Amino acid sequence: MMNREFYGKLVIKGKIKAMTGLHIGSQRDISEIGGIDNPVIKDPHTGLPYIPGSSLKGRLRSLFEIFVNSQLDGLKKQYPTLSKYSPGSCKPLNQENCGKFFNKRINRGWIHVCPDYDSALACPVCRLFGASGNETNFPSRVIVRDAFLTKEWEETWRAGEDLTEAEIEVGIDRVTSQANPRTNERVVAGAEFEFEIIYNVEKLDHWENDVKNLLTAMALLEDSYLGGSGSRGYGKVKFKLDAIEFRTPEYYRTGNEENKIIVEAEGKDIPDVLKDFEGLFSEVKSKLGAV
Ligand SMILES: [Zn+2]
Repeated sequence: MMNREFYGKLVIKGKIKAMTGLHIGSQRDISEIGGIDNPVIKDPHTGLPYIPGSSLKGRLRSLFEIFVNSQLDGLKKQYPTLSKYSPGSCKPLNQENCGKFFNKRINRGWIHVCPDYDSALACPVCRLFGASGNETNFPSRVIVRDAFLTKEWEETWRAGEDLTEAEIEVGIDRVTSQANPRTNERVVAGAEFEFEIIYNVEKLDHWENDVKNLLTAMALLEDSYLGGSGSRGYGKVKFKLDAIEFRTPEYYRTGNEENKIIVEAEGKDIPDVLKDFEGLFSEVKSKLGAV
């Protein structure tokens, strides 16, 4: 049963720093002679590289799916209906995948999607990131904006510095031993992008676990990679928090800044926020009520 509520928005802002070269590919796959085979995605208005919100969100989701799947037993207390993913007792997306946590096939991989609204509501992954099932869609509670270069890095580019570099990668065909060089474009290490992630508080007894889960996904990403060629060293990123704000429904009614609660997160690392969660979010908690 679809029954949506609204208790405010948590806005998380900061910078994503590319600690190594970063390659988020564009759709173009036709190579020009002497050109770059694998360009990075760029904002069509400025020609500058950026991180699409969909790429960032997809990566956070996929890392968190794997995390949840490996903790199913431990999480059952918090999310009792997760047990429906044990074999033999599920509403399958299709017969073949009945009972599997990774139940939907996308291209060459498998992902997890709850089949209906009620299971999504009880699932740590789908209620945070959304689910498009057979019967109903569960709307994502998380919005991830496109992350554009910081003003400082844009200035660097205006001053004539290259923000991307071409890396030649030589693949060797294992059968013919023929070398197959390709040119990958990547954003230079050190580049910083402004990110914004918004979490909608739709259930008073969910927000705390949802937000912790979101932070966990961000922490997992820092020790994984964003974009392509991660196993070859690309795409290590770090989140640097500027602000976490809770905007109450009164704020949206009045526009009054006093109706925002500021979580003191500036300069903090994601694991630090998780560690100090109780203290940092105490004011939000007293506004929304603890779990
Ligand atoms: Zn789910």
